[in-house]
Amino acid sequence: MGFAKAKERFFSRGLSSVGGSVCSECLGDHGLARLVEDSASELDCDFCGQESETDPIAVPVDDVVSYMEECISREYEDPANSVGWCSEEGGWLGVTVFDTEELLSDELGLELPKDDGGKLLDTLCEGLGGVTRQWVRIDPYGIPPEDVYTWSWDRFSRLVKHDRRFFLIHPMIPRRAPQDPFALPPGVNAGKAVGVGMAEFQVAWPFTELGPGNDEDFLERWLAWFGQASRGQ
Ligand SMILES: [Zn+2]
Repeated sequence: MGFAKAKERFFSRGLSSVGGSVCSECLGDHGLARLVEDSASELDCDFCGQESETDPIAVPVDDVVSYMEECISREYEDPANSVGWCSEEGGWLGVTVFDTEELLSDELGLELPKDDGGKLLDTLCEGLGGVTRQWVRIDPYGIPPEDVYTWSWDRFSRLVKHDRRFFLIHPMIPRRAPQDPFALPPGVNAGKAVGVGMAEFQVAWPFTELGPGNDEDFLERWLAWFGQASRGQ
């Protein structure tokens, strides 16, 4: 990839160029330290002051930021992509939203062993889009990956996930969920979808009532799905 193209891609991902270079000891984290060791191109670290006469010991912070964003964006995204906003309810609905510093420090537990003054953390945050950039887990209303059956019959989990997603964003709302239909936890949004009148969310298909006495239906439906799934359908 040419430099101009690489730069364009960098900015289109919401990253900012921060300058400076950093050594593996400052980063601490195993994966990030390895990135530095594998691609070191600079002779000094702007954060701890370490210098080398001959062998490169550091990489541009921009490279670290770019790599971090690649990893992060597999699991996290901008809440505007997927989360309902309601100013009366105090903002993003029903999910944990992190700013960049919270994401790095609290959620991802990034430890920067030599960063006593916080300069490196600030620089990484700035590179990743600044303090105002927000992140949520991808598909925050879905099932957290660790809760999905890991023994997953692939088709079975798809069926379960699909069939527990009852909600659509109303077609008049200029916003799409990453997946249609999607799941909502019981709460304000789900309430809006089943309430009277037009709302941001709507149900994708009618709910099946589960009451005492009709558990036979329920069992039959699920046994049929299990049966289909075990045959790979
Ligand atoms: Zn350093």
